[in-house]
Order: sequence, then C-alpha cells, then structure tokens
Amino acid sequence: MKPLSAIAIAIAFVTSSVYGAPTEAITTTHITSAKVACALFHFTYPNHTFYPNSSAYIYETQTQYWSVTDYAGPQCVFVPQNAQQVAFAVSSMVLSQTQFAVRGGGHMPIPGYNNIDSSGVLLSTTNLSSLALSTDKSVLSIGPGNKWVTVYNFLQPYGLCAIGGRVGGVGVPGYLLGGGISFYSNQYGFASDNVVKYECVLASGLIVEATATNTYSDLFWALKGGGNSFCIVTRFDVKTVASPEVWVGLAQYDSSQKTKYLDAVYNFGKYGSLDSKAAIIPTIVSFPSLNTSVYTAAKFYDSLVNNAAPFENFTTPQLFPTVDTYALQPLSGYITLIDSLQPDGPRQQFTVMSSIVDRNALEIVHDTFLLEVFTQLSSISGLQTSLTFQPITKEFIQQGISKGGNPQGVDISKAPYFWMVENWSWSNSADDATIYAFSKSVTDNINAQLKAKGLQGTYLYMNDAGAGQQIFQNYPTANLARLKSIRAKYDPLQIYTKLMPGGWKVLNA
Ligand SMILES: Cc1cc2nc3c(=O)[nH]c(=O)nc-3n(C[C@H](O)[C@H](O)[C@H](O)COP(=O)(O)OP(=O)(O)OC[C@H]3O[C@@H](n4cnc5c(N)ncnc54)[C@H](O)[C@@H]3O)c2cc1C
Repeated sequence: MKPLSAIAIAIAFVTSSVYGAPTEAITTTHITSAKVACALFHFTYPNHTFYPNSSAYIYETQTQYWSVTDYAGPQCVFVPQNAQQVAFAVSSMVLSQTQFAVRGGGHMPIPGYNNIDSSGVLLSTTNLSSLALSTDKSVLSIGPGNKWVTVYNFLQPYGLCAIGGRVGGVGVPGYLLGGGISFYSNQYGFASDNVVKYECVLASGLIVEATATNTYSDLFWALKGGGNSFCIVTRFDVKTVASPEVWVGLAQYDSSQKTKYLDAVYNFGKYGSLDSKAAIIPTIVSFPSLNTSVYTAAKFYDSLVNNAAPFENFTTPQLFPTVDTYALQPLSGYITLIDSLQPDGPRQQFTVMSSIVDRNALEIVHDTFLLEVFTQLSSISGLQTSLTFQPITKEFIQQGISKGGNPQGVDISKAPYFWMVENWSWSNSADDATIYAFSKSVTDNINAQLKAKGLQGTYLYMNDAGAGQQIFQNYPTANLARLKSIRAKYDPLQIYTKLMPGGWKVLNA
C-alpha cells in the first residue's frame, strides 16, 4: 500500500490531468474532493480505478445492478482487491472528504443506496471474491464480491450448502447485513444468525475481526441486522450445512383457484413450524395491461426423502397446478434455472409489509393490492407486479434467540407472521413518479386496514423495503439504542453515515 501522503501528488495530477481522466483544462476551481480521491486511487492502484467511458466503468456502474434505477455516474469506480485496499480507500475518502457508495451484489433497488453520482466514488466489491472452506468444512469464508449462486455452486461438490438467498444473483453482503431470509430459515433462522465471524474495515481504516466472544462482540451483534452503518465488511465466515440435494421446485396455478390458494398459504403460515425442513415462497404475479395474474408457489424441503404433508394444500386435489417442477436436485441447479427466468434490467421497486398470520389479513392484502394495481396501473408500459407472502415461523425467530440474539429482535410472542413484499417492474423512467406514489398509497391503504383490525405486524424487514419506509424504528427500542451506541463507538465521525450516505442508517432512526 502506498502512503496517504500521495494525496498531495494526486492533487498535482488532478490539476495537470495527466492520468487519462477528463481532458478539459482543469483549474483549481474545478477540483472537487471526488476528483482528488479518484486521482489518488489512480496514482496508487491504476489497475483498480476506472473512469467514465472505460468498459470496466460501464460494467461496474451499469451492468451489476438488478434495477436500472440504481445506475449512476460516479466520478470514478475503485475496485479493491483485498481488505488492505479497502482500508486505503476508506482512509482516502476520509482525508479527501469524499462521499462514496459501496456496492455488493447490487440487488437493493433503491436509487442512491448502492451507487453515487459524480460528486462521489463507487467502491465496488467485485474483486473481493474469495471463497474458502475451513479444514473441517464446517465454515465457509466468503468475500463480499460473491453472489449466492456462486456460493452454492462452490459448496455443491462437497454435499454442503449455506444459509443464503433464494435467488442466485442476490449479493452476499447486503443480504447478510439486513438479516437474510433463506429456504433454510425455518431450521436455522436469519442467514446472519449463522455468521461466525466478520472481517471488516472500521472508519479509522483499522481492519478487525468480530466474533460473538472477542473484543468486537458488540460489533458482531450489530452486523447481524444493523445494515451498513458500522464498517465495510470484507469477509463473512458462515456455517455450512449438509444438504447435498433438496426437494425444490415451482408450482403455478390459474387465478380461478385464488381462494384455495390463499387457504393453502394461510395454513402453511399457521402450521409451518410442524416441519421446519419445509419452506414456501407464495407469489402472485400480475400483468395489469393484460388483466392477468398467475399464482405461484416455490416449494422447498431440505431432505433426500420427500415429505408431501407440508405441501398437500398446494397439490391435487386441493389445488391443481398447471405446472409443478418440484423434484430432488441440488439447490444450486434450481437457483441457476430460476435466475435464468429473472434477468436484471428493468426498473424495480420493492415495498415491505408485515401481518400476523390470519386468513382475513391475506384477503385484505391480496384484494386491495390486485384491485388497485388493475384499476390504476393498467396503462403503464411493460408493468409487471408481484405480491409475495413470506411465512415466518416461530422456529425461525427462536433460532436467532438461541444463537445469541440479533438487532432485529422480532417479537416471538405474536409469531408466526407473514412478511410481504410488493414488487413493481416497469420500463420507462417517465413512469417512475407514478409507481413510487402508487406504491406508497397502496401500502398505506393496506396497512391502515390491517392496523384497524389488529392484524399488522410491527417488524419491517430491511432487505425487502422501499425508499422512505421506516426500518430501525421498528426494532425493539433497546436494540435501536444499543445499535446507536455501537455505531458511535466505532464511527464517532459518522463516516459510514454521512460520507457514505446510501442505505438505512441507525443514526437517522
Ligand atoms: C431478485 C431478488 C431476490 C431476493 N431474494 C431475497 C431472499 O431470498 N432473501 C432475502 O432475505 N432477501 C432477498 N432479496 C433482498 C436482498 O437481500 C437485498 O436486496 C440485499 O440488500 C441485496 O444484497 P446485495 O449485496 O446484492 O446488495 P447491494 O445493493 O449491493 O447493497 C445493499 C446495501 O448493502 C451495502 N453494502 C454492500 N456491500 C457492503 C459491504 N461489504 N459492507 C458494508 N455494506 C455493504 C450497500 O452499501 C447497500 O446499502 C432479494 C432481492 C432481489 C432483488
């Protein structure tokens, strides 16, 4: 690593513009902190620093995002190779007072949360892509540049898996810092409940390892669901699980079966804890311009031997699937297939809601969402919407408690829950404002109805939330206070809050 005194040299480079950056005559009045930081990165690590119009810059800023709405034009992109280079980057941003964003798998569809405009620098984790199994194969060390499909493909030859995303393109870091709902969560809790060590770069530039029992045990706890207010994580050590193959697949139903479909979803929510190896993702996909909806359920059973019982309400003679791909296969194979059906690219928006498990709550959410989507959004070009009911069992929450607790502190006494995600996927930027306003109004409407009937859940899951939703405000008061004090201890200058503004910040709650 070259010394930070190179900042002076970098400023000289900015003014003379010798490094291939913009060619216009630069006077000192044009110098911005971002230009200084970029010049420093380029001077020190020329092969890891990319400017607009280079193919690497375009790759980093415009292809590694799930939603087009996240594309932005940072002054430059710095792509560090290891934790030391991340530490150098953070110190450089601090000294030059440059705002920056960090991107992992780029799946959080909120503009400004994982990218930044030309006033700042994008720090990409693309090259932090290491994967290493411990000698006894019980722990996998994962660099934050990995996506879950890569993790599953790596572990599959060993007959192992990890508690991770249900879509392969989702990045490891953002997912784990928000908690992480997995097909395995009814057995093992949040994915973050299964992290045993974090390596991360503090705002001071210090690289530390946090575990449940070492000096940084408070930081360890905060990272299980406190988001990106504390450090940049450069390695996650997670427990592996023996799971060579699983029963998994996607069933589809036509909309005439709506009532029995909601019955089946309700019953799984109510009795899902009876067999924690089972999981479902019930999703209703709608095409407003075609006035059509398709009802789907991803079904998962973590065993070589199938148990039909948890899914009997989703199969004949209760429901009649038009397609059902449920079969014994490695999770990596299923994930790869599902990913091929969901290419990155369109404009995307998430909103999250929560209810206790109640049949009437399902009806309210389903009917309100579909009615409003079909009556108000049918003219939006290329619009596809979905509504997902994620059943959260008592065992899911108990796992987190048994493993030392987490900041989310979900109230087990009112479990089970449905954590619900509304998703909009559309084509034209001209429709952004309509979608954002609609997503707020329909969610407010549904929440008001749930609240009036005492059916609303209090916790809102960060990773499925949309801009403007309150997240940490719904964590237990004591947990939020603890998060705030841990943040203040490790980042007194608020570097990861103000200099890195993207993401939900505990200080702002
Ligand atoms: C198609 C799809 C499927 C999904 N499936 C699931 C699922 O099955 N279960 C689930 O729980 N969630 C799921 N999610 C939600 C997902 O967990 C979040 O979007 C998550 O933030 C994605 O992580 P990422 O690394 O891709 O995010 P990014 O967009 O890269 O980052 C998200 C946030 O984390 C911060 N961050 C990234 N890397 C670091 C780092 N190394 N250190 C500190 N901060 C960092 C970023 O600054 C940003 O604010 C899904 C999302 C999509 C779009």
